[in-house]
Amino acid sequence: MTEAAPADGDAKPDPSAEVHGGAVAASTPTQLTVLAGPTAVGKGTVSADVRARYPEVWLSVSATTRTPRPGEVDGVHYHFVDDATFDRMVEAGEFLEWAVVHGRHRYGTPLAPVLARLAEGRPALLEIDLAGARQVRAAMPDARLVFLAPPSFDELVRRLVGRGTESEEERARRLATAEVEMAAADEFDHVIVNDDVQRATDELVAFMGVAARR
Ligand code: 5GP
Repeated sequence: MTEAAPADGDAKPDPSAEVHGGAVAASTPTQLTVLAGPTAVGKGTVSADVRARYPEVWLSVSATTRTPRPGEVDGVHYHFVDDATFDRMVEAGEFLEWAVVHGRHRYGTPLAPVLARLAEGRPALLEIDLAGARQVRAAMPDARLVFLAPPSFDELVRRLVGRGTESEEERARRLATAEVEMAAADEFDHVIVNDDVQRATDELVAFMGVAARR
């Protein structure tokens, strides 16, 4: 099996190196980027836009214990698993990270596919929650962490109410979590304001070193 190695033999300058300063310059090049941010900020929409317009970026497919929503396809949007299967995966050490999200269901990133993509030198993106992002940072310090932020907190409230998929109680719980999550932005390597989905996506892929297209 091949080891993960710098993808480019001719050592092209890393377009995002300035953002990281010395930390990246001193470390092994990595193609792993984590996208996190508060509830309802549009992480799912941005990653769907990456999937549609940048097929060269590999998107990790998480395992989750929640049930599929209409239109979600097993193996594409998530691997939908039961509690016993999730337990078995945790025990077998199959996750790069996992977390209970919004106090309800478990979500985790299967490790083997991530390692396989990194070995191929293909840019890989994880769209996960803040607790997961922190675990990735601990496990893979070279991973680049991107925080997707709303233009304002009021806008976040408007989006959460507007999408109408949560009960009032659930909304209150998610907004309380979001307030805590917003305070974590400065732990990240880069902050992208989601004022426009395509613009935010283009900024994300440019940060990943993938040429943005229109
Ligand atoms: P949803 O149920 O709306 O698809 O996702 C709920 C939340 O779970 C989102 O904030 C999403 O980022 C997060 N999430 C999805 N997959 C993972 C994962 O593999 N690990 C972690 N830690 N969070 C995840």
